[in-house]
Amino acid sequence: MKVQPLRRMYSGREAEPTGFKRYSFVDKEIKIILYYYSVSEKNIPYKCPCEERSDEPLSCITEEYVLKKMYDVVIVGAGPSGAAAARGLTTEGLKVLVVEKKKLPRYKICSGIIFPKSQALTERLFGKIPQSAYVTPNFLKGVRLWSDTEHFTDWPFNKDGAGAPNVWRSEYDQWLIKNSGAEIRDCCDIKAFKAVGDYLEVECRNGHDEPIVIQCKYLISAEGSRSFIRAQIDPEFEKAIRWFIAYQSYYEGDSLLDPCFYHGFLDPHYGEVYAWFSVKDGLQILGTAVRKGSRLYPYLNKYVEILKNNYGLKLGKLRRKASCLGNDMCPAGRFYLGKGNILLVGEAAGFLNAFGEGISCALSSGLFASEAINKSMKTGGDALTLYHELTKVEQRLTKLSWRLGSKIAGRDLMPL
Ligand SMILES: Cc1cc2nc3c(=O)[nH]c(=O)nc-3n(C[C@H](O)[C@H](O)[C@H](O)COP(=O)(O)OP(=O)(O)OC[C@H]3O[C@@H](n4cnc5c(N)ncnc54)[C@H](O)[C@@H]3O)c2cc1C
Repeated sequence: MKVQPLRRMYSGREAEPTGFKRYSFVDKEIKIILYYYSVSEKNIPYKCPCEERSDEPLSCITEEYVLKKMYDVVIVGAGPSGAAAARGLTTEGLKVLVVEKKKLPRYKICSGIIFPKSQALTERLFGKIPQSAYVTPNFLKGVRLWSDTEHFTDWPFNKDGAGAPNVWRSEYDQWLIKNSGAEIRDCCDIKAFKAVGDYLEVECRNGHDEPIVIQCKYLISAEGSRSFIRAQIDPEFEKAIRWFIAYQSYYEGDSLLDPCFYHGFLDPHYGEVYAWFSVKDGLQILGTAVRKGSRLYPYLNKYVEILKNNYGLKLGKLRRKASCLGNDMCPAGRFYLGKGNILLVGEAAGFLNAFGEGISCALSSGLFASEAINKSMKTGGDALTLYHELTKVEQRLTKLSWRLGSKIAGRDLMPL
């Protein structure tokens, strides 16, 4: 495989290239990954829609849960993987419940870029993303990877320049889950589960810490990187996982960095994983990631300093800061797909592409899990075995994306 090295491409101080660059990758699969990495401009006041509403929870069912209601499938987590799984199952007429520990719509730390593969899957499963989920700029042209403070290379999202939708995750995820066809129970945290005969009994707690017991034939963990279910079914696997902390802050302000791109800074001085910058509804969003246990601020402070000195970053009021844990399952190629009638999807299973792109594989793995369960319910085959088969290509692509990411960065992108 030949990969164009990230040396001098374009200087940030020169006039920007007008067209997109072509990349000559020999390996077919890598081409597919590049297609995932596939867009813009103004400042308007910050308004993350989910924070302006005091909606009623999506769900309105309470007491009947203590009656041990039976579902075909219970999905834990209302992110894209959970929504895709739910959609795939309800389409086939299965009775599905999604439980989500947060109140919906919930905030999710994310850059909110819907890469082309994610967009295609979203449209196939749910239709066009509603305008209410979009932020300004509506579309991003591509990823701009900075090798140092002067040189970068652009990775356009698509050849025709259509770009990739730039969304608030709260809105996008809420729209997905609402259109999944499943019953939804938010403010509901899973606490325990056990096999009872040929079904599973799941105990959750609602917002008032009251127990809710549900029965199901299959349980899907769509809980994101920190999966309670994974930790319960395989504590040994869990022990071997290494973690990083991703930190992101949202400021009012301005900068000279092109808001039509998602910017990645690969210099390890700014983050052991990497550092990033994007613009959403006028907010200057910057983040970095370091291994769990490392001190974040030496990296973050250096990063903010170069953004100020070299890219004219002017920071106004801090509107939000957030952090989350991610893990090394995917770069290490250690996916965990489940046990018995319990299937894991999305980041819970280890699906996350290089540079933190995870919506595409969350959607696809959720869909594969639904396909496996649908088939198994019809034909009696083992759902987990089918799920393993169905995700083989996705696993390979995800691993390849990390290899490619490391080649581009010239270093291990997950030195945990
Ligand atoms: C800083 C950052 C930027 C990113 N930017 C992008 C991007 O621009 N594009 C992209 O494609 N990907 C991006 N990603 C990755 C992407 O956000 C994730 O890969 C994706 O959200 C994974 O989807 P999921 O459904 O597996 O999990 P999540 O979206 O994390 O959803 C899991 C859900 O499960 C719920 N949950 C967890 N535990 C429980 C429990 N015990 N009981 C009930 N509910 C529970 C959580 O509250 C959450 O709502 C980014 C990640 C980070 C950290």
